[in-house]
Amino acid sequence: MSGELPGDLTCRELVELVTEYLEGTLPPPERTRFELHLAVCPGCAAHLHQMHVTLRSAGRLSERSLSGEAREGLLRTFRDWKRTSPP
Ligand SMILES: [Zn+2]
Repeated sequence: MSGELPGDLTCRELVELVTEYLEGTLPPPERTRFELHLAVCPGCAAHLHQMHVTLRSAGRLSERSLSGEAREGLLRTFRDWKRTSPP
């Protein structure tokens, strides 16, 4: 679609995988792509850190804790953050 490299994770995909990454359930190939994206995208690295803190403090770091609704909210938050974040 845009200039994404094949196999490269988009910011949106990363957000969808964040909980699996934090739970350690992300398969190794996906994990590698995830970490590659983090290495070149400070915004997503900050988002991951924020999610880590949030989930840890909630004490609910499990797959069940992120329902479809929560996931949508997260994606919405992420979009807002992308939009309002200064360049
Ligand atoms: Zn990103």
